[in-house]
Amino acid sequence: MRVFSLIAACLLTSYAFGQVAPTWQGKFEQLNETLPTPNEYRTGSGAPGPRYWQQKADYIITAELNDDNQSITASETVTYFNNAPETLTYLWLQVDQNIFAKDNNTTKTETGKVKDSLAAKFAATVYDLYDYEGGYKIKSVRDISGKPLPYTINQTMMRIDLPQPLKSGEKVSFSIDWSFNIVDRNTHGARSGFEFFPEDGNYIYTLGQWFPRMCVYDDYQGWQNKQFLGNGEFALAFGDYKVRLTVPADHIIAATGMLKNPQEVLTKTEAQRFETAKTSFSAPVIIVTQAEATQKEKTKLKEKKTWEFHAENVRDFAFASSRKFIWDAQAVKTGSKTPLAMSFYPKEGNPLWERESTKAVMNTLITYSKYTIDYPYPVAISVHTADIGMEYPMICFNWGRPNKNGIYDDRVKERMIGVIIHEVGHNFFPMIINSDERQWTWQDEGINTFIQYRTETECYPGFQSRRGPADKIVPYMSGDKNSMRPLMTNSEQVIQFGAEQYSKCATALNILRETVMGPALFDKAFKEYANRWAFKHPKPADFFRTMEDASAVDLDWFWKGWFYTTDNCDQSIDQVKWFKLKNEQPDVEKKNVKVKKEDLASTNEKKFDNFNNGPQPLTLTETDPRFYGEFKSRVDDKAIIQKLDQKNIYEVTLSNKGGLVMPVIVQWNYKDGTQEIEKIPAEIWRTNENQVTKVFVKDKEVVSVVLDPKKETADVRTDNNVFPRTNAPSKFDDFKKKTN
Ligand SMILES: [Zn+2]
Repeated sequence: MRVFSLIAACLLTSYAFGQVAPTWQGKFEQLNETLPTPNEYRTGSGAPGPRYWQQKADYIITAELNDDNQSITASETVTYFNNAPETLTYLWLQVDQNIFAKDNNTTKTETGKVKDSLAAKFAATVYDLYDYEGGYKIKSVRDISGKPLPYTINQTMMRIDLPQPLKSGEKVSFSIDWSFNIVDRNTHGARSGFEFFPEDGNYIYTLGQWFPRMCVYDDYQGWQNKQFLGNGEFALAFGDYKVRLTVPADHIIAATGMLKNPQEVLTKTEAQRFETAKTSFSAPVIIVTQAEATQKEKTKLKEKKTWEFHAENVRDFAFASSRKFIWDAQAVKTGSKTPLAMSFYPKEGNPLWERESTKAVMNTLITYSKYTIDYPYPVAISVHTADIGMEYPMICFNWGRPNKNGIYDDRVKERMIGVIIHEVGHNFFPMIINSDERQWTWQDEGINTFIQYRTETECYPGFQSRRGPADKIVPYMSGDKNSMRPLMTNSEQVIQFGAEQYSKCATALNILRETVMGPALFDKAFKEYANRWAFKHPKPADFFRTMEDASAVDLDWFWKGWFYTTDNCDQSIDQVKWFKLKNEQPDVEKKNVKVKKEDLASTNEKKFDNFNNGPQPLTLTETDPRFYGEFKSRVDDKAIIQKLDQKNIYEVTLSNKGGLVMPVIVQWNYKDGTQEIEKIPAEIWRTNENQVTKVFVKDKEVVSVVLDPKKETADVRTDNNVFPRTNAPSKFDDFKKKTN
C-alpha cells in the first residue's frame, strides 16, 4: 500500500496534511518601500544617478597651539560651493567642541544610578565635577569684506544667516575666529585632546573636531544638522585644505595632507631622512630617532615654528603635535600609487611601535586597496597616544602601549595592530566612501571592521580576530533582546555599540561573503560599491542595492534579517527518516493504485526515529497514465526503480527557531567514515519560514547528520544541530568509539 511515497515526499510541503501553516512573515519579500524611492540623484541600482550632486567646502586655516595653557587660537576662511539645484539662505556648521561646554545636552541627558562604590575618576565624569572650561569661544564671524555675519549657536550646531541667498552654482566665503581649551583625554575620554606625561612634563596633542566644520547638505535630507550627543560621529563635505599650524619649535607635527615647508621646520638631517623614506619600500626610515626625541623632552624650547600642510579632496583635517614624537616612514605600493606609511609615537610606545606600527599601516593600505580602490592620498599616518582609536583623513590616533619596561605580550601587540588596521582602514570608510556617520554607524564601523578582519586574516597568520568570525558573535546574538537594536538604528539609541554596529555588521558581511554569495560574487559587488561611492555620500540603500545589482543575488531577505531585526540564527534538525526500496521484485504490473493520506505517515514513528532500527521500506510502482496529462511519451519506470535500488533515501525535517533565515549547511557523516557537506541556499525557507522537510538520495549509508559543522552561520544553539541527538548514544557514537 505504500505507493508513491517518494514522489509525494518530493512534491508536498511539510504542512500538507492537516497541520496548521505557521505564521508567514514575508521574509523573502522585497524591501521595496522600506528603501527610499530611486530618483535621478540615486538610482534603483544603487549607483549615483545622472544628476547626482554634492557640496564642496574649502578651508584656509591658521592656528596656534599654546603649550603653556593647552589651548588653540585660530582663524579660518571657508569657501562654500552650492552645487545643489536649490537656493540656500543659511549655512550650518558643526561646532563639536561644544559637547564640552557647561550646558551641553550630553551631560544633561546622561542616565545612571548611584553605586555603593565608584572610582573617583569615574565619579568626577558621571557627576560632572571637573572644572574644565570647554566649548568654542567664537570671536567673530565675518563675510569676505570683514563685515560681521549674523549667526546662531544651538548646542553643537552653528547657523550662519546669509545676507544674500546662495543660488545653485554659486559660492560664498566667510571667516571665523575662535579659540578653545584643549580637553584632557584622561579625564574626559574624548576623541580629541591632550595626553600629559608627568615623568618628563610634556604633552601629546591629538586634535580632531577642532575647527567649525561645514555640515553636509544633500539630496537625501537637506542639512545633516542632527546634534552631536557623543556617539553619532561626523558627516562632512569634501574640500581642499591649506592649514598653517604654529607650535613650539621642537614639536613634530603629524597631519592630514602633505607638509609644504619641510625646509623651514625640519633639521637638515630630518629633511634628508624624510626624502629617503619616500623611496624606501622595504622598511621604514627613522626620521626622528628616540634619542633625539628624548633629548627634546628635556630642553623644552619656548620658540615657535609654523608648519604648513595642504590636503586635497578630504572631508576633514586633524593633526597631532608633540616634542615627544619619534617618527618613521616608508613608501608603499598600492596599484599605481606610492603613498607614505608613517608613524609618530613617544618612547613610551617602544619597542612595539617601531616594530609594528608602520608595517600595520602598510598592510592596511595594500589589503583595503585590493577590496576597494587604490589608496588615493599621499600619506597614511598612525599616531600613538593612550587608550584611543580615532580616525581622520590620512591620520589616526591609536592605543597599544607596552609596560614601563617596554615589555608587551601577544594580546597587547594584537590589539595594537588591530586598532591601527581599523583606524587606518577608516580612510576608506567613511573618509573616502563618505557615508553619514551621524545617522548610520554600521555603514562605516561595520564595513570597516569587516575589511579589518580580512586584513588581519590575510596579513597576520594566526591572528586572534575579535570581530568577524561567525562563532565570535554567538554570545551577543543569543543575549537579551531588550538590550539589542537592529543595525538600522541611529547611533545614539544603540546600547551595545561595539557588539552591534562593529561586530554584528562585520560578521554579517563575513557570512555574506563566505556562506551566502561566495568570495567571487561578493568581492566584485563590494568593489563596485567602493568605486561607485568613492568621494561621494552613499546611504544604506545604495550599499544594499549595489550588492544585489552587481551579483544577481537577491539579498533583501539578508538585509531584512541582519540589518532590520534582532533575530538570530538557530536552525534545528528535528527529524531524519531513512528509507530504502523494498528488497523484492518491483511490482510494476500493479495498476490504478491510489495514494491515501496515511500512506505518507510512517507506520511506527518511534521505531524509525533514528538510524538504529534500519531503513523504512519504500515501494515504487508503475506511473499512473493520468500523471502524464497530455503527454504521449512515457518514462521508463523500471529504469527509475533500478536507479533507486540500493540507494539510501533520507527525509530531513529542519526548523528555524531563531527567526533569521539563513542557508542550511548539512554535513553527512557516512558509515564508512567519510563525510560530505552540502550547502542549501536560504531560499529553502521561502514558503515556510519556520519548518521545512526535504528529501536527499545518497549512495552511502548515513550514521549522523550535522548542521553548520564549521560554525559559519552564527547558530546560537548547536545541541539541536545534530541528528541523532548526541545526548543519546547512537550508531555514530559507536562508530566513533571504534575508529578512535
Ligand atoms: Zn571605527
